[in-house]
Amino acid sequence: MSLTQIAQQPHVDSYYAATVNDATRYPSLTEDIACDVCVVGGGLTGVSTALNLAEKGYKVVLLEAARIGWAASGRNGGQMIYGFASGMDEFAKYMPEVDVQKVWQMGQYSLDIIKRRVAQHQIDCDLKTGYFHAANKPRHVAEQKAWQEEAATRFGYDRFEYVGKDGLGRFIQSEAYLGGLYDPDSGHLHPLNYNLGLARAAAAAGARLFEDSEVTSLEMSNQADGQHLLKTAQGSVKANFVVLACNAYIGKLSPALARKIMPVGTYVITTEPMNAERCQALMPARAAICDSRFVLDYFRTTVDNRMLWGGKVSYSKMAPRDLPNAMRADMLKVFPQLADLKVEHAWGGFCDITMSRAPHFGRLAPTVYFAQGFSGHGVNVTGLAGELMADAIAGQAERFDLFGKLKHQDFPGGDLLRTPALVLAMAWFRLKDYL
Ligand SMILES: Cc1cc2nc3c(=O)[nH]c(=O)nc-3n(C[C@H](O)[C@H](O)[C@H](O)COP(=O)(O)OP(=O)(O)OC[C@H]3O[C@@H](n4cnc5c(N)ncnc54)[C@H](O)[C@@H]3O)c2cc1C
Repeated sequence: MSLTQIAQQPHVDSYYAATVNDATRYPSLTEDIACDVCVVGGGLTGVSTALNLAEKGYKVVLLEAARIGWAASGRNGGQMIYGFASGMDEFAKYMPEVDVQKVWQMGQYSLDIIKRRVAQHQIDCDLKTGYFHAANKPRHVAEQKAWQEEAATRFGYDRFEYVGKDGLGRFIQSEAYLGGLYDPDSGHLHPLNYNLGLARAAAAAGARLFEDSEVTSLEMSNQADGQHLLKTAQGSVKANFVVLACNAYIGKLSPALARKIMPVGTYVITTEPMNAERCQALMPARAAICDSRFVLDYFRTTVDNRMLWGGKVSYSKMAPRDLPNAMRADMLKVFPQLADLKVEHAWGGFCDITMSRAPHFGRLAPTVYFAQGFSGHGVNVTGLAGELMADAIAGQAERFDLFGKLKHQDFPGGDLLRTPALVLAMAWFRLKDYL
């Protein structure tokens, strides 16, 4: 995997690409055009922003270096989980409780956005509700029970259900866990088909989408009413507003934003299909499941009865050696009974984490917006980011600006040193997972 080769890349060879249900190709930009808002990046953040803005009547151009959904958005585990990767206490450091409550509500609302968009635009993306957060250790059980209590008393959310070891059979046929917390409102989906469905909706609403159109330079105006100029290999866009939705690949356009995030590799496999009864017995609720370790496993079954298994989160940019077998070995620790299944697809991608794991939204200039740092929790938060940036551009910035209250640290060490420093940190966290 490379963080530099993004231009004109095909979708990676994944289960999602193999089951994609939309072959639309958007053109490459080959002329000089102008618009109200130019969105850079065709992942869930960029496409959601373009859709919201086009619905508001803005003239929108979206430029994607490769294909719509080419990066994290079209490769992820598909787990749509309430809230934010950091949890709520990070927000409480920077804002009064009344605002923390608003952010919590937005985290819940982010799930509603997905459900609404899927229904409104009839996006065929295997959306399924149900998420189980599995406890590996007694301390995880205690933490989950405490969080269930806090969610109910502090945030009024009483839909979590703690399930002990004796109830695990509802979710999983495995001896690996001690129990877990079930959330009926979270769930999972086919992220590439979802991303492509949102793109179709954005185009239908009037946004102009371009693939194979990497932005190679951005000349920003610092004036509130100035025009920005974005160049690609064969064209250019003049825009009154710019939205940067480049995730781990932002480095070329904004080193300042790149310093706030760390690209982290994570990997997924799918097995060959099982027969339907076997799959149903393996994970009866068909929920998305994450375990509770820092270096976590995340998995679920697919509509065609495969195990989709993700994990091996790594701060090194190198994919694990013999990826399919390395991932399979992890899967067999939880499901030894799947030893007869072949791995059919193995792939990986980059998440962008912030130091605090809270998302990083803001402005680089008065009319240049960005949203990044979803920290492995972007399936839901990207849709929220798109709505908030569109609202802010339209003059309703209250919700967007709550996120601006957070302070995000630069990763230490610059480009060369931040990876080694984090590999060391990761080794420590891995060790902690065993304690
Ligand atoms: C393997 C994997 C598993 C994951 N699992 C989950 C999960 O189960 N649940 C969850 O919530 N999150 C998960 N995540 C994280 C989630 O996928 C991301 O947070 C989310 O997709 C980020 O969306 P995005 O649109 O911001 O970025 P991306 O999807 O990465 O899109 C950024 C786009 O910008 C384009 N781009 C960048 N620079 C330029 C440029 N100069 N010009 C034009 N285009 C440019 C890129 O080509 C890319 O398509 C996972 C991530 C990975 C990699």
